[in-house]
Amino acid sequence: MRSLNIVFGEFARGCRQCQLGVKSVLFITGLCPLNCFYCPVDRERFGRDVMFINDRPVKKFPDDILDEMDRAGSNGLAITGGDPIMVVDRVVELVKILKSEYGQGFHIHMYTHALNLSEGAVRKLAGSGIDEVRIHAINPAQLNGKLGLLRVLKDAGVELGLEVPALPRFENDIIKVAELLITNGLISFVNLDELDVSPANINNLVSMGYRLGPNGNVTGSLDAGLRIASEIRRRWPWISINVCTSHYKDLAQIGARLFRINMRVSAGDESVLDDGTVESQGSRGILIKLRIGGKEYTVESY
Ligand code: SF4
Repeated sequence: MRSLNIVFGEFARGCRQCQLGVKSVLFITGLCPLNCFYCPVDRERFGRDVMFINDRPVKKFPDDILDEMDRAGSNGLAITGGDPIMVVDRVVELVKILKSEYGQGFHIHMYTHALNLSEGAVRKLAGSGIDEVRIHAINPAQLNGKLGLLRVLKDAGVELGLEVPALPRFENDIIKVAELLITNGLISFVNLDELDVSPANINNLVSMGYRLGPNGNVTGSLDAGLRIASEIRRRWPWISINVCTSHYKDLAQIGARLFRINMRVSAGDESVLDDGTVESQGSRGILIKLRIGGKEYTVESY
């Protein structure tokens, strides 16, 4: 049996909400000037300024996002991309709208690559009211000139964490990144994501000699995550670490959100199953509705 996820210390607040399915996910832009070899972002989205909320296209900003928050009954939002900092004005505007609509307790976190941080963007973000920023960097050189910018965020009360894919062969570099961030008092948690294979990164991963596992993951990634986690925890035991497996992301995060949404929107003759899918009693048999990757499939079973 595959493990779900491994936590040393406590979950970050944003992760706790994902676990309960009460956090929606906004893909705020596909823009990003970088070209990480492991980038999993769908090539139809990458480099394009498009938005999706819980995988549904956003045509009207911010109305479609607010509608989805109400449909899903979300208590928080994770902002991903691309790199959200490329559209920092949009992030700031949205944070202000959501906090004013749902109150200061509505938790918002976003991801950004250290290389994309600039003074102008950081100053805007620091004054936005965003709760948590997860920094991406896989070697210490990527933090050159960036620690002062992270200090601006930290001093503004933004919680900072490191979130990176658990890359086999990069363990020592990732530990050095964590060391720089921890010894400068910048981060309180580290998230290590098992590396997923996607159509966007499969060629790069194979050409670099990575082997693909049976569950759409990279072989050895989970072990790499555990090695990094053990070393960080041994040296800095106050830092919380979450090693998040692909299996956990599918089952707990996406499944829990689906379950919650379908509990709210399903009709009287439909039942929501444990995995979040909906079963309805059709005239000829049982209709099973599955929503996968934003698409809906209906299967009839007798
Ligand atoms: S920073 Fe993120 S979105 Fe940009 S290339 Fe790297 S993995 Fe992809």
